[in-house]
Amino acid sequence: MKKILVSGGAGYIGSHTVRALSEVGYGPVVLDSLITGHREAVPGNIPFYLGNIADEDLVSDIIMKEKVSAVIHFAARSLVGESVQKPDLYFEENTAKTHRFVSTVLQCGVNNIVFSSTAATYGNPEKVPIPEESKTEPINPYGASKLMIEQSFYWLEQAYGLKWIALRYFNAAGAALDGSLGEDHATETHLIPLVLKTALGQREAISIFGTDYDTLDGTCIRDYIHVLDLAEAHIRALEALEQGVPCGAYNVGTGTGYSVREVIAMARRVTGIDIPVLEAPRREGDPDSLVAKVGKIQKILGWQARYSDLETIIKSAWQWHQKHPHGYGI
Ligand code: UDP
Repeated sequence: MKKILVSGGAGYIGSHTVRALSEVGYGPVVLDSLITGHREAVPGNIPFYLGNIADEDLVSDIIMKEKVSAVIHFAARSLVGESVQKPDLYFEENTAKTHRFVSTVLQCGVNNIVFSSTAATYGNPEKVPIPEESKTEPINPYGASKLMIEQSFYWLEQAYGLKWIALRYFNAAGAALDGSLGEDHATETHLIPLVLKTALGQREAISIFGTDYDTLDGTCIRDYIHVLDLAEAHIRALEALEQGVPCGAYNVGTGTGYSVREVIAMARRVTGIDIPVLEAPRREGDPDSLVAKVGKIQKILGWQARYSDLETIIKSAWQWHQKHPHGYGI
């Protein structure tokens, strides 16, 4: 059984990927600081290490003891607003710690790494759908911290033979179809969980940030990708690295965008609840439309989204929120 070290495996996307890895016969090993992750999101039979990716002794011990053959690296800070307030935190936690982590991984003789990157590396896109070769000019420190990692991987590849794939996620959403794993952030900022928390009566209304964008209904358009499809993309990326595909960045999205109003309309339909809405000013730094061009991942990794129609995304998220109205541990 191939052992895969999953950093951040107790987080939202990480925990779904750990489950998917087990289902297809890999042996995931989780390293998580639990600063934002949840111990309950990782089954008891999966090896779990509490700690920091920059702890060289811990990381080498895990790799040797567990006989790790590849790494999937999720562990990171991921709040755009926080990154604007505290850029130093993001360059330390994401860029610097990843550098130390990957150096240790390479020193231990492990060369294959799948990295969770983001569409925030593009900044305001020149054209939509966004191809991977678009200019990358992040408009916040979060996107910059991830782009710097991608760039460092290129040079580690040239010098030491690092084999890497960076998956640039668009809008991760949804939950395990039975609602047993899902999204639980201490500070929730994302549209779909906030809409569903409003449906549960935990919030009075969902604010629509901006109704005067240059889109059909005036609200922002995003490419929502089901977390199960994201998990599958990581497995395809692992397999592709073993087969020697070119290293680099791959978009993970559907190629189809939905507006904020369309998301709310679908949530009303799925929940049967007339979710109250407030029209609010624009949120700083939101481009009007972010949609992935997805030909590269489909062609080279042979990946296709299977669960990312808006109805399946919202139905699965609704299962999770109904079963776990206050997240994990409840
Ligand atoms: N959004 C909104 N109200 C909210 C949260 C988000 O209107 O309470 C909008 C936001 O402006 C963006 C879209 O929903 O256009 C998706 O935002 P989210 O924070 O989920 O993801 P992002 O696109 O920022 O990664």
